Amino acid sequence: MSQKPPPKQFVKTPINGAKSVILVSSAKGGVGKSTLAINLAFSLQNLGLKIGILDADVYGPSLPKLINLNEKPKSEDGKAMIPLEKYGAQCMSMGFLVDEQTPMIWRGPMVISAIKTMTQKVLWKDRDVIIIDMPPGTGDTQLTFAQEVKVDGAIIVSTPQDLALMDVKRGIQMFDKTGIKILGLIDNMSFFKGDDGKEYKIFGEGGVEKTAKEFNKEFLGHLPIHQDLRSSADKGDPLTHSNPEHEVSKLFLNIAKKIKLNLN
Ligand code: ADP
Repeated sequence: MSQKPPPKQFVKTPINGAKSVILVSSAKGGVGKSTLAINLAFSLQNLGLKIGILDADVYGPSLPKLINLNEKPKSEDGKAMIPLEKYGAQCMSMGFLVDEQTPMIWRGPMVISAIKTMTQKVLWKDRDVIIIDMPPGTGDTQLTFAQEVKVDGAIIVSTPQDLALMDVKRGIQMFDKTGIKILGLIDNMSFFKGDDGKEYKIFGEGGVEKTAKEFNKEFLGHLPIHQDLRSSADKGDPLTHSNPEHEVSKLFLNIAKKIKLNLN
């Protein structure tokens, strides 16, 4: 009887200088992944952890804008880069290396090489956790992390809209297939609280929770649509950093506490 060949074993390189590495992912763009990645990172900092933030969206980096940082990282030996530091977080993004207006017209191998550089040639130092803001989709970046980088888990962000959930299901299956543990799902833009105190479910209701149940994953929590979350992002000072007592920052903190339980 012929036997199935054993699954290919990939050699996964750890990110030096970090005890834990967590991916924040969404299969669909525009659901708030970058906003959540950065606010969760600072919530983990509020819990006493030393954080790093790696913006892995090579084509559309948003970290420089989200933390109002636009310097070129330095290198002492011309090989490894020193991450930039802002609000106590070590940060790296392709956006620090190229001009804001320059489009990245790159083929897959160049993206793979950029991800390897940002994970292996950056001198992250003394971090409890690095949060990685992933690009949307299930492409080269996702595959590079799945096959070549040692990560401890992934968080999936979605809005409760059917259109977004369809892609989330694809995202869940990709992580399951590539052996990356899904720490849980977050429902972003769950509701909008009007001046009348009522909660309006603009993108529908319950879809992310239902998907989590369907795939036997943890549901980490709901986050509302809130103007302060958007305006703090535009100002370059994330809400959970600028105002940790804000009602939305408290919701982030509850989610961060659950994530912290999974860290090394
Ligand atoms: P993605 O990384 O998934 O493409 P972003 O984090 O860039 O999404 O968010 C898309 C837009 O929606 C941004 O303008 C962001 O400020 C805004 N946004 C995201 N989540 C919220 C929220 N919960 N409340 C208000 N605005 C939000």
